[in-house]
Amino acid sequence: MSLITVIIPAYNEEKNILLIATRLIEVLETRSYELELIFINDGSKDNSEEVLKMLSNRFANVYFINFSRNFGQQNALRAGYDYSTGDAVICMDADLQNPPELVLELIKKWEEGFDVVLCRRRKAKQHGGFLKEITSKFFYRLLTIISDTPIEHDSPDFRLIDRKLVNIIKNLPENDIFLRGLISWMGFQKTVVEYNHGLRINGNTSYSLPKMIKLATSGITSFSVKPLHIAIYLGLFISCLSLSYIPYVFVKFFYGHTISGWASLIVTVSFLGGLQLLILGIIGLYLGKLFIQNKQRPEYIVKSTNMDNKINLNFELQKGRGI
Ligand code: UDP
Ligand code: MG
Repeated sequence: MSLITVIIPAYNEEKNILLIATRLIEVLETRSYELELIFINDGSKDNSEEVLKMLSNRFANVYFINFSRNFGQQNALRAGYDYSTGDAVICMDADLQNPPELVLELIKKWEEGFDVVLCRRRKAKQHGGFLKEITSKFFYRLLTIISDTPIEHDSPDFRLIDRKLVNIIKNLPENDIFLRGLISWMGFQKTVVEYNHGLRINGNTSYSLPKMIKLATSGITSFSVKPLHIAIYLGLFISCLSLSYIPYVFVKFFYGHTISGWASLIVTVSFLGGLQLLILGIIGLYLGKLFIQNKQRPEYIVKSTNMDNKINLNFELQKGRGI
């Protein structure tokens, strides 16, 4: 019997945890799968911790990992992968925007032999507002143009991956990961399932604009140094343009015309000033990444979990089998 792990990052989701857990258990227990449900409580400020404790007392296959503070969804997912023991690992949001019933379809595809099953939103409109839709579209376009890895558009962190890939992610030394890109980069047999993205059941989205910008820059800078190349080409282009202006200035000077046009001068100077700052910022981002990576700090800190036993148990079992 296959063991299916579902990992669910949760930040201030006290009202959704019970709902999603019971729906997943309902969906999966009718089938011949063993389920391991791992909630990663990403430093929630509400009662998520107590709800999870209560839930794990009631269901033997519900586990929780409480972070010491908010480390962000990507790191919560990483913790889920690190602790998971399933043959296939599914990740999904806690807010029921990803329908739990679809899990069966993902598993079916996995059984057909696919190592990666991605979910693509059919109705992106419902995702949450006009601004979010526009920014998300813009982000995926930009990412596809800039990055060296094609990344599925409209695919949130709702997917199934095989244990092979989980083991690779676990052993990657890279930090500040962007899983959507990383999984595309890894290759393997991949398929896409379309679904209707629902509305958030309770609470509000925790992806504010700054958080989205952070995820977007992390996505871009994790996968490509193309922005640096673009900066070089842009610099070259502008230098050539200004060089071509020199003969004109000489001719004007020769005929004794004073150079008027303070406005155009100011526009050019401020434009170039802005451009330089932007490019410095891009270089700074990459440098900052190196700096953080160099410190080798952990991606997340676990405050408490009920998975220690399980990990030890697995270890004992493995020792018992002489592995
Ligand atoms: N989440 C998290 N840490 C964060 C922000 C979000 O673990 O810092 C979780 C959140 O609880 C949810 C999922 O990530 O399960 C997606 O977040 P949200 O629904 O707020 O994003 P949206 O669906 O609006 O993009
Ligand atoms: Mg959501």
